Amino acid sequence: MKMSKMYIPTLKETPADAEVISHKLMLRAGMMRRLGSGVYTYLPLGYKVIRKFEEIVREEMNNSGALEVLLPALQPVELWDESGRLQNYGPELMRLKDRHNRDFALGPTHEEVITDLVRDEVRSYKDLPLNLYQIQSKYRDEIRPRFGVLRGREFIMKDAYSFDVDEAALEESYQTMYDAYTKIFSRCGLDFRPVEADTGSIGGEGSHEFMVLADAGEDIVVYCEECDYAANLELAKAKVEANGFNEDSLELELVDTPEASTIEELVESLDLPAHKMIKALLFKGEDELILALVRGDYEVNEIKLTNLLDLNNLELASEEDYDGLNTVKGFTGPIGIKEVKVIADELVMDIVNGASGGNKEDKHYLNVNPERDFEVELVGDIREVREGDQCLHCEGELKLTPGIEVGQVFKLGKKYSEPLGATFLDENGKAQTMVMGCYGIGITRTIAATIEQNSDEYGIKWPKALAPYMVEILLMGKNDEVLEEGERVYEELKESGIDTLLDDRKERAGVKFNDADLIGCPIRITLGARSLKAGKLEVKLRQTGEELEIDLENCLSSIKKIIKGLN
Ligand code: ATP
Ligand code: MG
Repeated sequence: MKMSKMYIPTLKETPADAEVISHKLMLRAGMMRRLGSGVYTYLPLGYKVIRKFEEIVREEMNNSGALEVLLPALQPVELWDESGRLQNYGPELMRLKDRHNRDFALGPTHEEVITDLVRDEVRSYKDLPLNLYQIQSKYRDEIRPRFGVLRGREFIMKDAYSFDVDEAALEESYQTMYDAYTKIFSRCGLDFRPVEADTGSIGGEGSHEFMVLADAGEDIVVYCEECDYAANLELAKAKVEANGFNEDSLELELVDTPEASTIEELVESLDLPAHKMIKALLFKGEDELILALVRGDYEVNEIKLTNLLDLNNLELASEEDYDGLNTVKGFTGPIGIKEVKVIADELVMDIVNGASGGNKEDKHYLNVNPERDFEVELVGDIREVREGDQCLHCEGELKLTPGIEVGQVFKLGKKYSEPLGATFLDENGKAQTMVMGCYGIGITRTIAATIEQNSDEYGIKWPKALAPYMVEILLMGKNDEVLEEGERVYEELKESGIDTLLDDRKERAGVKFNDADLIGCPIRITLGARSLKAGKLEVKLRQTGEELEIDLENCLSSIKKIIKGLN
């Protein structure tokens, strides 16, 4: 493509509302523009990258035996009622009415629509396994759309759905998708990790997320330094290490703790270490109040708590929720509290002579001993793991690092096939419910994540699989011979299938160099009168900054060799 005929509106200044690198660079490199909150237009350069990534995804999905379809984005809300998900999904579902006042939603995900299709179409075990996928825009009314296309309200996703005869067959389909995802993100040259994940509002029995390790990530990846264990912080587990308090239990005491309600203040005023404190947090479940207890040096993990109690919804209690309880906010503890369900983390239970809230203004209990001083309805793992905690599977220590979730695979089981009645006839002619899996990749988010991992102060450094163009040729000066020779090289590369951009604009050299760095094609070739005379081309590699000279003659084979060596 010739730059003079292309539309790449690069920006010198960083747009004020862009916080993260990928958002800034996608705007500055002329890849996209914002239409509204979380809604973007993809310009030719941006869309070219999207198409490159989509092709990689298509190839690997097709190789794995999945079949491409296109489902409607417009979905009748009755289907969501039928699956039982309408309530749980909540305000993230973009809803609208047609002229007959019928309710519709714009698809945030397509479990209902695909299951509706398959229940009508597939009759026999002979038609299974079946894996259908699509690449399409999705709509989610995110509470906080931000970071450009990392969290949009309209974004492109690849979603696939597998249908199997039983759990064992689902395991196979799941593994096939897991392997395909590994190939896809490896081909993009990304530094990523598959991690154990929570199933969230999609539901089901098991899940992995594919995380690109980058500071802009909104998730936290927990991984072991010694073994393969990796999980999202939302459900990561660590070994239970006993507190090791070797002391006799002392008599319970209620003491004054004016102006001390945080753990830090209490450590100071009570002169007790944080791991002897019992931190109590009040939550509101679906129809009851829950007091969650963790050791003072840990935080409550809300997702673990939600899963332990098998709830759909859990939130921190509001001021009003304290009305009528025999406690005071800031001084809440398990001793003597009524009308709440007390749930304790497993590390709380062996605290000896600890401290907890006194349930009265400016009061705390000392010498608190669980079981002796208060009862607990349920004990479980509800704490958030910390850096340095010991791995559950080996002697290694756990590390925490931010990650961007670019894909997720789920074992759904019968979560959708059962309520929607997706059945097939088995070998004995008996009706059985299908067993499902679902698999998503954020197309636009992956592109932003790639930029998060591949950029410098001057712009993007595309890995070769996703580069909009492999080579950019910059023509220097107004010399006709340079123009002619540049065009010849451009045609030669193009004809041999190398995606090439020719900067033939009448711009100053500085402008061309800056734009080339910003756009970030892996190979930059510069041709000016002087190099032409010497029969040379100047080559600079964007990823490493390496500069070299190649002969103008035979430049095609040299370029091909360079491409082979790129990441
Ligand atoms: P998140 O936890 O980040 O909100 P999710 O777990 O709800 O994402 P899934 O339902 O698993 O997302 O969707 C599949 C993939 O779609 C995700 O792995 C992610 O790459 C992408 N995705 C999800 N939400 C968005 C969004 N708001 N903007 C861009 N991509 C998204
Ligand atoms: Mg997800």
